[in-house]
Amino acid sequence: MTIPSFETGSGRSLLPVAEARTAILNGLQPIPGWERVAVRNALGRVLADDIVAPYNVPAHDNSAMDGYAVRAQDLADSGETALNLVGTAFAGRPFSGVVGAGQAVRIMTGASIPQGADTVVVQEVTRRDQDIVFIPTGQKKGQNLRHAGEDLAEGAVALAAGRRCGPAELGLIASLGIAEVAVHRRLRVAILSTGDEIASIGRPLGPGEVYDSNRYTLFGALSRLGCELLDMGVVPDRPEALETAFRDASEAADVVITSGGVSVGEADFIREMMSRLGEVAFWKLAIKPGRPMAYGRIGNAILFGLPGNPVAVMVTFYQFVQDALLKLMGVRPLPPADEFPVRARFAMRKQPGRVEYLRGKLQRDADGLSVALVGAQGSGVLRSMSEADCFVVLPEDCTAVQAGDMVRIQPFHGLV
Ligand code: AMP
Ligand code: MG
Repeated sequence: MTIPSFETGSGRSLLPVAEARTAILNGLQPIPGWERVAVRNALGRVLADDIVAPYNVPAHDNSAMDGYAVRAQDLADSGETALNLVGTAFAGRPFSGVVGAGQAVRIMTGASIPQGADTVVVQEVTRRDQDIVFIPTGQKKGQNLRHAGEDLAEGAVALAAGRRCGPAELGLIASLGIAEVAVHRRLRVAILSTGDEIASIGRPLGPGEVYDSNRYTLFGALSRLGCELLDMGVVPDRPEALETAFRDASEAADVVITSGGVSVGEADFIREMMSRLGEVAFWKLAIKPGRPMAYGRIGNAILFGLPGNPVAVMVTFYQFVQDALLKLMGVRPLPPADEFPVRARFAMRKQPGRVEYLRGKLQRDADGLSVALVGAQGSGVLRSMSEADCFVVLPEDCTAVQAGDMVRIQPFHGLV
């Protein structure tokens, strides 16, 4: 992997978000290694192999309705047809005989279609007199049948490698009678917070200190992705401490995610240290919040040096890191960005030159969806992330939003 180094800052304009995303994703390959797990443990895991249907699903032609299995050729073109009932087919208890001329079999939903029959007539339209059933006209040959292999034909790829398993996938795998699947091994991600002022929870705050929240938001985001987490704690702004922490983290993990220490003023000695340990580029991104970000490699580990501000951490995580992790986890194709336009319920001015990610809340009214901004939008105000249910994404060239304008949003549902 090579780390693209973009000339950003004074020389060139800020690095556009899309360019940074592409550069990151293009340079990454899924990590090697897989294991076999029981179906239930595959929840949230990524399939390492295609799941191939070992037989037809459903395995037999069966009835989609409760009714009568008949031979279409027996049915009269006009008037009722009287047929002799010769048995019953239940789901899981088939009728073992053959349906002959002038005969019918009572059949339940899911029961195999008996030999000889080719059509199911729903019970509601029929009339019964003891062992005679009367079928009205208007039936179509083959109706109300579910054909063998209709859901999945034997040998077909039911789920392709790279699929992340959710509830539907677990059910689908089980429907094929498969008890164990091969999944990519879990991605190991180390997290650490930097800053002399950052205090871990569990002790009182000293003067000028703030509690570490970034390791907790990152814990939440990474746990949801099914990563194996290595929590390296808080590291003070001391070169030797940082160097040891970065070295340890990169030896133990596939990915190292840090927060803080990458903004102007602090960047220089971290930059120097990171460049010594590996290949790390510092990017000034055309994004708000979250302008500074370090990206690169130390040993075999991928490094994301996120900004320190708690909202900037979340924005950069979801705009850059999450898809990179999914790619490393073996997910393919990556889910397309869920972004769509809704009406703005707010007005604001904006400086051009950066994509701005505001925290919004969707509202549903008679005209459809619209979005309002939630509370204070400062990059340190985590409450805005908690109260929001979407990002409002204002493009680089946008200079103002009027109420009623269409703005693009990314719903948190499925993202955050
Ligand atoms: P930095 O990027 O290190 O200059 O940090 C930017 C701002 O984010 C500062 O106000 C820090 O105190 C704050 N900050 C940095 N790391 C954390 C953290 N782990 N938890 C909460 N706030 C943080
Ligand atoms: Mg700091």
